[in-house]
Amino acid sequence: MYPIEDAIYTCPKCGALIEATYEGLALDAAATKRRWRERRMSNAPLDQSGVWRYRELLGFVDTARHSAVTLREGNTPLLNAPRAAAYGGLDALVFKHQGFNPTGSFKDNGMTCGATQGLRLGMKKVACVSTGNTSASMAAYAAAAGMTPIIFLPHGNISYGKLAQALEYGALTLQVEANFDQILALVRVLAEKTGIYLLNSVNPFRIEGQKTIMVEMLDQREWSVPDWVVVPGGNLGNISAFGKGFRELRAMGFIEKLPRFAVIQAAGSAPFEKYWKERGEFEAVREPETLATAIRIGDPVSWPKAIQVVDESNGVVEKVTEQEIADAKAVVGQCGIGCEPASAATLAGIRKLVSAGVMKRDADVVAILTGNVLKDPDYIYKYHTGQLKTPAGAAITATFGNEPVVVPNDAARIAEIVARHGEA
Ligand SMILES: *Cc1c(COP(=O)(O)O)cnc(C)c1O
Repeated sequence: MYPIEDAIYTCPKCGALIEATYEGLALDAAATKRRWRERRMSNAPLDQSGVWRYRELLGFVDTARHSAVTLREGNTPLLNAPRAAAYGGLDALVFKHQGFNPTGSFKDNGMTCGATQGLRLGMKKVACVSTGNTSASMAAYAAAAGMTPIIFLPHGNISYGKLAQALEYGALTLQVEANFDQILALVRVLAEKTGIYLLNSVNPFRIEGQKTIMVEMLDQREWSVPDWVVVPGGNLGNISAFGKGFRELRAMGFIEKLPRFAVIQAAGSAPFEKYWKERGEFEAVREPETLATAIRIGDPVSWPKAIQVVDESNGVVEKVTEQEIADAKAVVGQCGIGCEPASAATLAGIRKLVSAGVMKRDADVVAILTGNVLKDPDYIYKYHTGQLKTPAGAAITATFGNEPVVVPNDAARIAEIVARHGEA
């Protein structure tokens, strides 16, 4: 165990990721649930945050003494999606949409905690390596806290929506000619040498914030635990955080059981799926490929925690193709909900798991949509116009394509087209 003020990310002895633990944490479940619910009526900034509302579970910082950096993250809805349920083969399906966060992804749930810890340690500069959403979130929270954000990106392979956010929030943005995993190694060395605080997925406080996604979900469901929680897997921080959240809540008697977790990876970046199925040595994917850039991770840092979570929940890991992700994403769009490509892996995975009989048709399933539909407009346009290609260059079929229609300036002709639209 190390003091909470140490800026370390891995164990100096064994190299494993550090985790925040709270000695002697005990809460009265009924009274705490009531207090959390009452905070929804409050106008105090911390009560309005869907992360800090649950601050009893975030004991690494005493918010009475240290200021927390909040942009009112969390507060994300549970959305019923009948059309997506039917596509997946389920009677019903609920999405918890983390894309409703301030910068449009669940990274905000974690970053509010990571940035708060950085501020509390007196850090002036904070850094992260990111395929996109982490940098967008980190830039925003660092800027809001008055710290300087520095972002390392793999050159190429980033969606403009995310890069644009980092630039807008004022981050020093360095595009390195190396892949994500190589840059992560580089930045860990840099952080040690320069005292820059790392807000990567190696940062244990981000995990603390992300675990509240599950707390909020349970609060919204009157503490009824679903049969399944489905989540896309990249670096596997989210699944690790979810498991930690459930474990803590169960230990304190807030809930009786765990859900089964299903982690869905993109087939071109699925080292965790392979490990889950075959065990033995964990093998990184050298050249991870997927258009779902948020989960294009070949060497996920959190796999040891993630496998524990999956196993203790009797969970599963599945992988889905580029075509399956693209079609599932269009279906999420048709629900009026929309999400970014990585998020749609959940629905694609559900469809596979239901058809394999792993997930029952009448199961109570919550799928996490991790990012906002506007993160990757280029992908959307290409899909709907039949121009989307896999990283290997194979065509992706626009199964649910919806091309814009060019029409003449002619009311009669347009009326005809509108009248015909929607008829089979
Ligand atoms: C970061 C991210 C993921 C992957 O989450 P991990 O915690 O790295 O497994 C999935 N979807 C989106 C939109 C993300 O931003």
